[in-house]
Amino acid sequence: MANDLKPMPRLTSINRPFFEACNAGELRLQRCTACAKHVYFPRVCCPHCGGGALEWVAVSGRGTIRTHTLVRRPQHPSFFPEAPYHVLAVTLEEGPLMYSRLAGEAPEDADLIGRKVRVTFSQEAPGQKLPFFELA
Ligand SMILES: [Zn+2]
Repeated sequence: MANDLKPMPRLTSINRPFFEACNAGELRLQRCTACAKHVYFPRVCCPHCGGGALEWVAVSGRGTIRTHTLVRRPQHPSFFPEAPYHVLAVTLEEGPLMYSRLAGEAPEDADLIGRKVRVTFSQEAPGQKLPFFELA
């Protein structure tokens, strides 16, 4: 039965606000108070200017697919029933690149590069929703 459970993020004091916001249906990222750039993934200092003061802010959840791939053979058995599925690299309107999955259907041979997407949240385990993207 253990193989039915999906691997989940390990919550830390650094990333906990991100995952709690996901459970509330909101995409929140860190933003540097020095250079005002958004930061993803959660970390302790700004990768742009090295500033150490990052605040949590809600973002649009909109972005553009930079690239994608179709997963036919997942590496973890818990994902077998969902394959094949698209994994996306999405450039968020606020700047950061975020990797996630496409929610909903798309043809296996679809060219999704450049398509607009918006975030949606999927209950991937008891107690944890994760951000997916759907075509806008
Ligand atoms: Zn900065």
